[in-house]
Amino acid sequence: MGENADDLILGVDLGGSKILTAVISSQGKMLSRDHSVTPARKGHEAVIQSILESAHRALKQANVDISALTAIGIGAPGISNPETGILFTSPNLPGWQDVPLRDIMQERLDKKTFLINDANAAALGEFYFGAARGVRNFIYITLSTGIGGGIVIDGTIYSGAIGAAGEVGHMTIDDEGPICNCGNRGCWETLASGTALAREARHRIKEGVKTSILEYAEGDVEKVTAQVIHSAADQGDGLAKELIARTGYYVGVGLANLINIFNPELIVIGGGLSNVGDMLLKPAFKTAGERAYKEAFQAVRFAFAELGRNSGVLGAAAFALQEMRRSFCE
Ligand SMILES: [Zn+2]
Repeated sequence: MGENADDLILGVDLGGSKILTAVISSQGKMLSRDHSVTPARKGHEAVIQSILESAHRALKQANVDISALTAIGIGAPGISNPETGILFTSPNLPGWQDVPLRDIMQERLDKKTFLINDANAAALGEFYFGAARGVRNFIYITLSTGIGGGIVIDGTIYSGAIGAAGEVGHMTIDDEGPICNCGNRGCWETLASGTALAREARHRIKEGVKTSILEYAEGDVEKVTAQVIHSAADQGDGLAKELIARTGYYVGVGLANLINIFNPELIVIGGGLSNVGDMLLKPAFKTAGERAYKEAFQAVRFAFAELGRNSGVLGAAAFALQEMRRSFCE
């Protein structure tokens, strides 16, 4: 992204189960990559300690001194305010409440630090280095255990009044639908995520529907995951195919809403569930086409995310660099 090839950023992708830390150049080249487990249950101090250790390993691996970094960018799950650097709450990080994560990191590493929501980071990663390069207005969604999103308007993440914008997974699709982690009912992610797909399959298996899904889950209904259902569908299992098509239908309902609200040029789709491919996405696009305004649907392009698991860490770094340059220009 940029004119100064010498800028080096430390990117951190903090997840509920793992921490990915990398030293990244302004061109998006990863000079190192450190992967560790998030001690999520031990509380925020233990997690911060793990991030610091991971950061030092990533710096050492890249043979870069911390003084040579331009900045640090952290992508974190949950609701955080990029202006104040406070992480308000996160369903994936139990016990985190109003943690000033940005300032803690900045103090302990003595380096300018920026905080952004993980899905917003991933959207920026795709904007600078991936599937949305050169596209000024697009929406990024990640179909995974939940559904995350990022809204890019005129080349900038739209973060809203307190940083909570882009929580596309929590738009209500069915007002009487399943209870969501956020406390609401029938959010998009309760109907169109990998977790929703697995929950529905377990329910149908317990009802006694004939299926080979269990054979892919060691015979244990509790081990039924979206991936297991995908495998069964690939082998022609009727229930698995039906449930994936149903999930795709709900993906499409949400896409139609996004298309009608934002009229985006592009929707970038990432996340593990998108690997299911046509079986999921054909019904999704069909439904979106039926429900959205025709002209808006005809104007939108869909693309797969290109950066995979690196989108968050690359995007967090890009955000830090973007904010450094913005403050420099002001
Ligand atoms: Zn919700």
